[in-house]
Amino acid sequence: MATEESVAAGEAVPAPAGAAVPGPESGAVVLEAAGLTKHFAVRRRGRDVLTRTQRSVRAVDDVDLVLRRGRVTALVGESGSGKSTVARLLAQLHPRTGGDIRLHGRSVTVKRGRDLKGRAFREYCRRVQMIFQDPFASLNPVHTVRYHLTRALKIHDRAGQDVDQALHELLTRVQLTPPERYVDKFPHELSGGQRQRVAIARALGADPEVLLADEPVSMLDVSIRLGVLNLLRDLKERLHLAILYITHDIASARYFADETLVMYAGRMVEGGDSETVTQSPAHPYTRLLIESAPDPDRLDPGTGAEPGEVPEEKGTGEPPSLIAPPSGCRFHPRCPVALPRCETELPPRFEVDDRPGHWAACWLYDSAVTR
Ligand code: SF4
Repeated sequence: MATEESVAAGEAVPAPAGAAVPGPESGAVVLEAAGLTKHFAVRRRGRDVLTRTQRSVRAVDDVDLVLRRGRVTALVGESGSGKSTVARLLAQLHPRTGGDIRLHGRSVTVKRGRDLKGRAFREYCRRVQMIFQDPFASLNPVHTVRYHLTRALKIHDRAGQDVDQALHELLTRVQLTPPERYVDKFPHELSGGQRQRVAIARALGADPEVLLADEPVSMLDVSIRLGVLNLLRDLKERLHLAILYITHDIASARYFADETLVMYAGRMVEGGDSETVTQSPAHPYTRLLIESAPDPDRLDPGTGAEPGEVPEEKGTGEPPSLIAPPSGCRFHPRCPVALPRCETELPPRFEVDDRPGHWAACWLYDSAVTR
C-alpha cells in the first residue's frame, strides 16, 4: 500500500542539448491520480469581507488518470469542464478535497502554508513542471531570458559551474538558436511562440519527469502552434517526458497525443488511445465535441461505436452549474439519447468495444442491458 510522504531529493543530471537521454522504459507510470476531487467553497461578499457559504463548486469529481514516461495524454473538454483544475491539483497548486496523487507509486501531499515555498514543494516541482496557457503573463516583463532561466536553474540546484553553458543547452533544446541571439532579450522583444519556448525552457531547467501543459498553444497564432506542439513531441521522445496536454481542441489531441481523456462538468466521460477516441467516439458528449471541431480527415463519427446508432441531432444547451450539477449522468440534460436511468444513476466506466483500454462512462454501454 502506498505511504504518504514528501518527495525524496533526487540527483539532477544535465544532458547535452539535442541528445536523447537514456531513461527508464517508455510507458512506465510516473504520475497517477485516483479519485481526485476538488470542491471550491462558494463565498459571499459582505460589506467588508468574503464569508464562506455552505455551498461549493464541484469542479473535479472522482478523476482517475495515469501519466507514463514518453507518452502524451490529452485531457479534452470545453471551458469550465475542470481540466485546468486537474492540472493545478497535479501540480499541487491547489490542495485537493479528496483522492490521491502518486509519484512513482508513492502518495504525495505538499501541504499548504509554510511548506508551499519549502523544500518539499520545490522537490515536487523539480519533477512535475507546469507550462501555462499565456506566455505573455508567465514571464516577468522586466527580466531577460537569461534571468528567467538562470533563476530556474538556481532554484532547482542545477546551475552547476557553467551557467552560460547550461543556458546555451536549454535554449538549443527549445530550438531558440543561436542562443546568444535570445539570451539577453526581454519578453516584449520575442514573439508569442518564442515566449512559449522560453517558458518551456524554464520548465526544462528543473530537469522534470512530467510536464503539465495547460492549453500551451491556444493563445498562439495558428501558424506557429504546430511548431510548439512538434517541439513538445520532440522533447517527449528525447527526454522521455510524461506530458499531460490540456486542450479544448480535440483535433489537436488526435495529432499530438497517444491517449485521450474527455472531461465533462468535472467528470471523466471517455478515454482510450487517441485514434480510437477521435475516430470512433463512444460517449455522446465526445461525439458532440468532434462534430463541433473542423477536421477534414474525420471519418463519419457515426460508424464506429457500438451499440446503437449515433443520433443525427446534436446535444443542445449549456454545460450545467457545478454548484448544483445534475443528478445521475451530468450530461443527461443535453444528451439526445438519454435513458430514464440516466437522470438518477451515475454511470460507471464501461468497455465499449474490442479495443483494449477504450471506455465510456455511459449507460449505453452497459452490457447487462444491451445484450
Ligand atoms: Fe446520455 Fe445516458 Fe450516456 Fe449520459 S449515460 S451520455 S445521459 S445515454
